[in-house]
Amino acid sequence: MSRVLNNPHFDGATFFIRTYGCQMNQHDAERLGGSLKACGATEASSMENADFVVFVTCCVRERADERLYGQVGSIKNLPVRSDSPYGKRYIAVGGCIGQRDGQSLIDRLNHVDIVFGTHNLPMLPQLFAHAIEYGGHQMSVVASEKEGASPFDLPLDRPHPWSAWLPITSGCNNFCSYCIVPYVRGREISRPIEDIISEAQTFVNEGTKEITLLGQNVNSYGRDLYGSPRFADVLDSVHATGIKRLRFATSHPKDLTDDVIARFGTLEHLMPALHLPVQSGSDRILEAMNRHYTNKQYRSIIEKVRKTCPSIAFSTDIIVGFPGETESDFQQTYDLVKQVGYQQVYTFIYSPRKGTVAAQMENTVPQDVIRDRFDRLVELVNDNVHAINHSWIGRTVEILVEGPSKKDPRMIVGHSPQNQTVHAKVPATASLRSLEGQIVSVHVSAAKTWYLIGEIV
Ligand code: SF4
Repeated sequence: MSRVLNNPHFDGATFFIRTYGCQMNQHDAERLGGSLKACGATEASSMENADFVVFVTCCVRERADERLYGQVGSIKNLPVRSDSPYGKRYIAVGGCIGQRDGQSLIDRLNHVDIVFGTHNLPMLPQLFAHAIEYGGHQMSVVASEKEGASPFDLPLDRPHPWSAWLPITSGCNNFCSYCIVPYVRGREISRPIEDIISEAQTFVNEGTKEITLLGQNVNSYGRDLYGSPRFADVLDSVHATGIKRLRFATSHPKDLTDDVIARFGTLEHLMPALHLPVQSGSDRILEAMNRHYTNKQYRSIIEKVRKTCPSIAFSTDIIVGFPGETESDFQQTYDLVKQVGYQQVYTFIYSPRKGTVAAQMENTVPQDVIRDRFDRLVELVNDNVHAINHSWIGRTVEILVEGPSKKDPRMIVGHSPQNQTVHAKVPATASLRSLEGQIVSVHVSAAKTWYLIGEIV
């Protein structure tokens, strides 16, 4: 059931949402957009044309944090659009920085009207209504996960109908020593399995071809629910809705159980792609990160998954320069990356996040050493990915067409089951727009490091 508390009316008003960070934030933005549309507001093409500007923020990396403060600061003097019903632009900052900074964000950026937390999404329309009524009175509303309302029954404003994110948990219980997420997203809460199935079925009925199940750690789904339904049950149930492509993110290696691995062999529409963040190849660093697995255990999971599904593509996250990381620790990470042969690696330079355990660690690694390791790792990753992509030349892949390619508007772009980006030429007889949202076969004729090129067959 869709719900917007007390439904204020914003007829004639426009909104613009700027989103930073992870897929969960992007999904939150879809819910916020849906709530504002349900109140009569329409989406603006830019901040300049918006009466309500909403920032959905991320504080996982220092750079995202700095960018947000810079961007919010820069719109202070943006002229109000001429036909604004309010004669003023209202600015709201939500997401992880909103949750973390609360009132102090308003103190620092005094043109911000509203700060709301990660558990206050359903309140946004009321907060704007309140700000309008009281002439821009500034407010900070930040609830804990226990006090906040669930955002999952808010209306959705999806950018297109053919793919959908479907959150199954929110929050995280893991407290990896470098990570701020459990402090800003709260403890893990699982969504009832009936709600997940019902939303998945709605998507399928609307013509959605691909669903990605979302959670900070989807593998620990259900531990807080009566009867402890397991993540494998969710996979089975969503698969049974008839969805053509099913994906999930993110998995914690310590919780990736055999029953979930087995699904890669039994569920036909579960895509052969697994994002399994390793963070480091050194047991010593993994322990300092509070990750609860070893290099050997991680590699044995990889082997098991590969045995179950030989065509699977792995991707991962790696942090370079965690406090205390020696050259030998880094070498173990480097060797692991070489052994696994990832399709994609998201490499990050360690940045301390205030409030986390790792931020207290004193044995920091000098920046020039981190940079050197980072560059070596990126070079290895690029070589690996390039070689993997080249092995696809001459093969045919199915892609879900997302729209015209930015490289060449006469081509289309989509993703393969292994999650590779594929650009493809369209036959002269086909209309490019009619292919959007369709699953088509592409013969791969060339490969670059970050994408494949081919022709529709
Ligand atoms: S599993 Fe670790 S890295 Fe992932 S969100 Fe939870 S605490 Fe952060």
